[in-house]
Amino acid sequence: MADFFTRSFTPAATGFCGSRIDRADHMRRDPQAVAAARMHPGARWLPFDTLRPLLADGALLWIDRAQIPADALEVFLGLEDGAPRFAIALPARVTESLTSGNPAAEAQDARGAAMTLPADQAAIVAHGRSLIDWHQRHGFCANCGAPTNIAKAGYARACARDRGGCGAEHFPRTDPVVIMLAIDGDKCLLGRQPSFPARFMSALAGFVEPGESIEEAVRRELHEEAGIRTARVTYVASQPWPFPSSLMIGAFAEAVTTDIRLDEDELEEARWFTRAEVEAVLSGDGPFLTPPPMAIAWTLMKTWVDA
Ligand SMILES: [Zn+2]
Repeated sequence: MADFFTRSFTPAATGFCGSRIDRADHMRRDPQAVAAARMHPGARWLPFDTLRPLLADGALLWIDRAQIPADALEVFLGLEDGAPRFAIALPARVTESLTSGNPAAEAQDARGAAMTLPADQAAIVAHGRSLIDWHQRHGFCANCGAPTNIAKAGYARACARDRGGCGAEHFPRTDPVVIMLAIDGDKCLLGRQPSFPARFMSALAGFVEPGESIEEAVRRELHEEAGIRTARVTYVASQPWPFPSSLMIGAFAEAVTTDIRLDEDELEEARWFTRAEVEAVLSGDGPFLTPPPMAIAWTLMKTWVDA
C-alpha cells in the first residue's frame, strides 16, 4: 500500500456546502442592479430571528417583498436560477406575525436546521447567518470609532465620513481554523474539551494565527494541546462553520511522537483510537460519541477509516 501521506483523498461533501446560489459579485457593486433585484417578481428574502433561520415543513421559509419590514438589516445573497435572494434580520415582532399565520413556521437554531435541511439549503443558512452576524457586530469603525454604513449590498461596511468618520472600508471576516487527526499507523488521536457532552470525542482544532501556514498551525495545535509532534500534513477537506464565521480546514498529520501531554485548559482527555474503534463509533456502536456528519470532524474520521 502506498505511504498514507502521499495519497490523496476524496471525502464526502462537508456540511454547510453546496449552495446553488450564484453570488453575483458584479451586482453587489452596482446599487441600481441591487435596487432592480429587490423589485424582481421572483425576489425572495430568508428571514433570520436572532441568527436563527425561519423554517417551515423542513425547508427554508422564503418571504416576498410585501412581507419584509422597511427598517430591517438586509444582505444580497445572489441569484438562484436567476431569481434574487436576500437574507434579512427580522425584529421579533415581525417574526411573530410571519409565524402566526403559518403553524409549521418556526425560527430554528442554525445547527439544528443544518441537521434536517437539504445540504444546499443549509449552505444558504451558513452564508446568511455569518453575514448578518458580522453586520450586527460591526456598527462602528475599528479604525476611528465612528458609525459605519452597510455597503456593497452587504459585503462591506463603510465608515461614515458624513458623521465625522475616516471613510475606511471594512469587509466580512472569515476566520481559518485547522481541525485535524494526528495519525500513527493504525491509530488516530481524538480529544474532548471540557464543554463537550458526556462520552463525546472529536478531532483537535484551533485558530490559525497571524503569520502562520495551515501546516504550521496543525503542528502547533497538536503540540500545544496534546504534546504530540507531527511531520507531514495532508489537506483533506474544508467547510464553512457559521458560528460565527469560521472556515474549518481539515487535515491529517503524521505523528512522530505518541506520548500525550494534555493542555488541561483546552482538553480534559485525549487518546489514541484504533481504526476498528473509530469505525464502530461511526456506525453508532463504539466506545464514545462523535460529531454528526454535518461536522468536518466526522468527515475526517470517515475518510480515515475508509482510506
Ligand atoms: Zn473610521
